[in-house]
Amino acid sequence: MLDDQDRIFTNLYGMHDRSLKGAQARGHWDGTRTILENGREWIVEQMKASGLRGRGGAGFPTGLKWSFMPKESDGRPAYLVVNADESEPGTCKDREIMRHDPHTLIEGCLIASYAMQAHACYIYIRGEYIREREALQAAIDEAYEAGLIGKNACKSGYDFDLYLAHGAGAYICGEETALLESLEGKKGMPRMKPPFPAGAGLYGCPTTVNNVESIAVVPTILRRGADWFAGFGRPNNAGTKIFAVSGHVNNPCVVEDAMSISFEELIDKHCGGIRGGWDNLKAVIPGGSSVPCVRGENMKDAIMDFDALREVGSSLGTAAVIVMDQSTDIIKAIWRLSKFYKHESCGQCTPCREGTGWMMRVMDRLVKGEAEVEEIDMLFDVTKQVEGHTICALGDAAAWPIQGLIRNFRDEIEDRIKAQKTGRVSAVAAE
Ligand code: SF4
Repeated sequence: MLDDQDRIFTNLYGMHDRSLKGAQARGHWDGTRTILENGREWIVEQMKASGLRGRGGAGFPTGLKWSFMPKESDGRPAYLVVNADESEPGTCKDREIMRHDPHTLIEGCLIASYAMQAHACYIYIRGEYIREREALQAAIDEAYEAGLIGKNACKSGYDFDLYLAHGAGAYICGEETALLESLEGKKGMPRMKPPFPAGAGLYGCPTTVNNVESIAVVPTILRRGADWFAGFGRPNNAGTKIFAVSGHVNNPCVVEDAMSISFEELIDKHCGGIRGGWDNLKAVIPGGSSVPCVRGENMKDAIMDFDALREVGSSLGTAAVIVMDQSTDIIKAIWRLSKFYKHESCGQCTPCREGTGWMMRVMDRLVKGEAEVEEIDMLFDVTKQVEGHTICALGDAAAWPIQGLIRNFRDEIEDRIKAQKTGRVSAVAAE
């Protein structure tokens, strides 16, 4: 388990003072100017050496992403945009940073922007996060007043402005290009890629979009050293990570621990175990609602990192762990996610617009068992026609939970169909 002195987020639970004074007492904003004086190449190289992979779900190496930004400006400004939309069901980690430890993010914005020669950074925060926006804005105001950001930020000679933009509650605005469209005041619809944001992003200018946690860990990594951060987790899965555990555990929680912690340790040490004991575990969605579920028995020994969860047929995603015990109607649980993705589809591309509705309607019937067994394969085929055939990853996000359900709980779906035909009530859906 991670030692307290190795935690980056020391006020995740809001037990301490979240103001600038409190943040400084916990070591934030310490030597920021010196970090900037090391130069942008040094910062990018350190981030590469730390092994940090993006914390927003895709896990793309952060330092490498920064290095895609133009080294010399062609006259266009560069921007850093922080994705604080956090709308994936089950994911609730960035909100804890923003409402309780906001200065970690603000300091990270300055350093990351400097590394990419961005004089302006926009944080795009989820519409429903009203209290989080207030806390973050208050912290931004404090940082301006103290001269940490703004003109001559931290007396480094670098001018830096930070703006907080409030979304309107659309899940799709968490997709990076839809987010940029929304920031520009347009409808939040994903863009075709290429061009990628590093070439033409916000207002057609070079832009990097990073998740809140990815940016908020930057100052501590640079203060304590890339080797320190790389020392946690297995190779290629470095660092500490915030896990958000919800569902049928005794104490659901958001907690920072080392990457590659075992699932069993995560649940037993931080969450008081599975409700009703380990034998009562039915399924786990280990990385936010868009990743496939895993059967409980395959999850117990799983390692919580990018590579290991791929081996059990799922993904680390945002590390939002949704635990389901034997009382769960798993077909209904996945149906609910289908309904969500159908609702949030922006409708731009046919496989997603039509496919999400089609899949949800079949799931409607599977929940009640009112289907033919052959339709299970047909549904799986349709998920494959949606997956990878759309402009953005929402198509995949709608397909993967259903694929996980069919791969892992086909027997339960078939049993329900048979039960419906024979009138056996024990296997029919929970209301
Ligand atoms: Fe819109 Fe869905 Fe296409 Fe994404 S995949 S652009 S949400 S229609």
